[in-house]
Amino acid sequence: MNTQVQKQQLLYKGKAKSVYETDNADYLILHFRDDTSAFNGERVEQLARKGQVNNKFNAYIMQKLAEAGIETHFEQQLSDDEVLVKRLEMIPVECVVRNYSAGSLVRRLGLEEGMKLNPPTYELFYKDDALGDPMVNESQSVSLGWATAEQLAQMKDLTLRINDVLTELFDRGDMLLVDFKLEFGVFKDRIVLGDEFSPDGCRIWDKETKKKLDKDRFRQSLGDVIEAYEEVAKRLGINLD
Ligand code: C5P
Repeated sequence: MNTQVQKQQLLYKGKAKSVYETDNADYLILHFRDDTSAFNGERVEQLARKGQVNNKFNAYIMQKLAEAGIETHFEQQLSDDEVLVKRLEMIPVECVVRNYSAGSLVRRLGLEEGMKLNPPTYELFYKDDALGDPMVNESQSVSLGWATAEQLAQMKDLTLRINDVLTELFDRGDMLLVDFKLEFGVFKDRIVLGDEFSPDGCRIWDKETKKKLDKDRFRQSLGDVIEAYEEVAKRLGINLD
């Protein structure tokens, strides 16, 4: 892919990223903003440097996944806060893997936080802000035409492979990958990883102290949100300059 694509009109403004069309129908530009939202957009704040940190973080992770043989939409980092990606037809089903109990699983099942889940759990959520992204199952996703059974099987297989790759990566930086959310789409009939992987969409704890180093710092008003994201990046060896 050459770098000569021209940014065109805004296609969609999400909670943390804006999506622009380009003069090539197969590619989009994502702009990572500093906006940080929680509780389905109820609370939104600007956190300085977040757009840049997440763009660079995402670029690093997407490249690591590509090296592991997983196809992603990532093409090229264009600037501190912009990335060129393949234009996918997004599947409106979010895939969540959990290695330890936290978040909505703890609330839903009345669990203690931090229980090791062996094997990891795998859950699907319907991507719909108005409904608050409800949990759904494979049968509903197929019957409602969101994805085929084959696509869902591929998404599960890819998500669990990504979990293996990233669990090891974070472990090398003395961190636990507690859980994360992925979104997939279709590009030329192939299932491809889309959206982003950053501390906004996963939970990461220090292995020893269990200190939270992800967006839960924002959700729970623990402070030092971007400092924690930068700490994770540093431990992974990501250059944020
Ligand atoms: O809230 P819950 O515990 O279900 O979230 C599981 C994981 O998925 C967390 O890492 C959270 O950050 C991520 N997630 C997300 N976007 C959502 C829902 C969850 O990134 N809409």
